[in-house]
Amino acid sequence: MSDQTRIVILGGGYAGVEAAKKLHKRYKRRTNINITLIDRNPYHTLMTELHEIAGSRTEPEAVQISYKRIFAGTKVKVIIDEIDGIDFQQRRLKSGIATYDYDYLVLATGGHPEFFGVPGIQQHSFTLWSLEDAIRIREHVELMFRAAAKEPNHDKKRKQLTFVVAGAGFTGIELIGELMERADVLCRKYHIDRAAVKLMVVEALPHILPILAEKPRAKAKKYMEKRGVEILTSAPIVKGEKGRYILKDNRVIEAETFVWTCGVQGSEFTAKINLTKGRVSNDKCSVATPEGIHGMAACYFDEEEKNIVGERGRILVNENMQSVDHPNVYLAGDMIWFLKDEKVMPQIVENALQSAATAAANIAAQIDKMAAKPYQPKFHGFMISIGSRFAVASVMNMNLAGFSAMALKHFVNLHYLWGLAGFNACWAYLWEEFLDVKNKRSLIHGHGAARIPAFFALPARLWLGLIWVMEGVNKIGEGWLKFDKSRSTWMFSRGVVQAGSPTAAVSAGNVVVTSAQTAADAATAATDAGWETGAAAVEATGDTLVVVGNAVRSSAQTVLKKVWDLDKPILSPDSGLVTWFRTTFMDGMAAHLNFAAFQVMIVSVEILIGLALMSGLLTFPAAGLSIIMCLVFTLSGMFTWNQLWFVFLAIVMMGGAGHALGLDHYALPWVKDRWNSSKLAQRSYLYSGEPRLRKKKR
Ligand SMILES: Cc1cc2nc3c(=O)[nH]c(=O)nc-3n(C[C@H](O)[C@H](O)[C@H](O)COP(=O)(O)OP(=O)(O)OC[C@H]3O[C@@H](n4cnc5c(N)ncnc54)[C@H](O)[C@@H]3O)c2cc1C
Repeated sequence: MSDQTRIVILGGGYAGVEAAKKLHKRYKRRTNINITLIDRNPYHTLMTELHEIAGSRTEPEAVQISYKRIFAGTKVKVIIDEIDGIDFQQRRLKSGIATYDYDYLVLATGGHPEFFGVPGIQQHSFTLWSLEDAIRIREHVELMFRAAAKEPNHDKKRKQLTFVVAGAGFTGIELIGELMERADVLCRKYHIDRAAVKLMVVEALPHILPILAEKPRAKAKKYMEKRGVEILTSAPIVKGEKGRYILKDNRVIEAETFVWTCGVQGSEFTAKINLTKGRVSNDKCSVATPEGIHGMAACYFDEEEKNIVGERGRILVNENMQSVDHPNVYLAGDMIWFLKDEKVMPQIVENALQSAATAAANIAAQIDKMAAKPYQPKFHGFMISIGSRFAVASVMNMNLAGFSAMALKHFVNLHYLWGLAGFNACWAYLWEEFLDVKNKRSLIHGHGAARIPAFFALPARLWLGLIWVMEGVNKIGEGWLKFDKSRSTWMFSRGVVQAGSPTAAVSAGNVVVTSAQTAADAATAATDAGWETGAAAVEATGDTLVVVGNAVRSSAQTVLKKVWDLDKPILSPDSGLVTWFRTTFMDGMAAHLNFAAFQVMIVSVEILIGLALMSGLLTFPAAGLSIIMCLVFTLSGMFTWNQLWFVFLAIVMMGGAGHALGLDHYALPWVKDRWNSSKLAQRSYLYSGEPRLRKKKR
């Protein structure tokens, strides 16, 4: 028998990834424990953002996070395959092409839409339960507008422009919110009167969003109705035909687009495996009402009033998230059937994450022969977006609506993404949600998305680079590389003895001589150069202009100084912060760093920053370094207000300025490739885009 313990996780959704991460954390140093995650896709899907793809707010890439990105630098091995069945006796998973043996198994294959046997619905509706579903809706909606734009038949056109979402839970409401905004954009694009577009939500229960408190629910309804969404409640759908949907009271809705979001059951995969499904009696089921299950009139319990779920039912687990049939099989996420306080667990992300953490902890407890930890779910609430700028939320006994709820939803998403793939995933999210949005569909409208072509920044980049080069060159001219002469004592406290050049440093340091010199050197370079260039230009046009120019300049300065003296340092040399910085950092450094080396370093860094900016090579780090230099000058009490443009221009440079007539265009792909394959980048999730895995992991 192998001395390796094989843990296999099937499904890389919220639950599967959480279980894999927790197990990696626990066993990263145990070479005899193998962790494998199997999913049919090469990426984790952010299911909670699918409505944004369906409504064309963000691109499909925004909800796909590759397993390579998530598990780079970990011991989790990822296999892309679709599993067809499990032999629990042999402890083996089977796909069409391979088999996979396990000692411990975590099943986390998620949920799937439930049609409750309503006739004709499955055949004649869209669903929103995968990226493919979302793309299908997105393309179909656009197709309908395109067709309607040239449809002469009034009835056909009306059907093409009617969009119905069945179900007013979070999936349905988030989807209609996106369609609401999408309709505005498509009406403009295809020259269609907005009043001709009909958006409807049809719900069997008496109200929308039953998971929320009354107040945010009412606000959500008001917001949607104000924007033309028709909301039908207490309106169970009893039959579906092509383009026709019949309600219990015999009303008929005609539409070419009908999306069913009414219920969720275990994934298709649960029908293929022989594990005990959840059963509950009618009066203890939280999804059953007198109207039927989930309010669907056509759905009731079976004869014994026990099994509400049939073949694809959710799978029964005990309090350790363990299958009741096999003690080495654990389950998590949407596919579990677990009752707490006589209520079945909701199919939400928090349940997926927490049940997965319990399953992982209890596998570890079983391996390490420790006590099991029962599932203690603690849910904080719900946030539901309605389009890109409005949301409602009931969170920890707080009810929110509008900007605050939407901001909270973004924050919660970022929190999840940080745990998933750190900075890399968070940056991709911020980019998609704020910096690369189309049609101003963002919480901050289009403010984050406006662009300046890199080409426009080219003169500024050359100029900033030139100033830094000249700064370094000037220092050489002033004798910075003649080491008997100290010009850097402005940075140190009186009497500090600098390593390597005691005589020069002490004598210079004792009188704090050259305070203004160096500070002015780097920090005022731009201003000086600016004035000099300006003066030179003016001189060329004649003495008279020089006189006028000087007069204007001096009177302007006099006026300015009265209000705000821009020549003053941002931090005064004797302020607390400057003193703290000097005594804590600079004096300490002076004792260790050879003074000559320090001078060479300053001169070299300035010239290198300048050359990098001028050639557009590694512009981002060069601009970052120049900001750090300015920060040091500020903390040394020498950086003045009118030199701040140095920093702002460097920020502009960081936005990709090196790509226009710069060497970054050629060098960055190479640098990225090297960096993305480094262990440091992978462990810290600081790679850019996708990591590159060099070694084959066992
Ligand atoms: C539009 C929408 C909005 C939502 N909004 C919210 C929200 O705001 N808040 C909230 O809490 N919840 C929300 N949810 C619900 C939430 O997404 C689910 O509860 C969550 O995805 C469950 O996680 P899971 O890991 O159990 O399953 P999933 O995330 O569905 O992952 C299952 C994984 O298993 C894989 N898989 C399945 N079968 C196989 C097989 N046979 N072989 C290999 N791989 C397989 C799939 O590819 C998938 O990666 C929303 C859902 C949708 C659709």
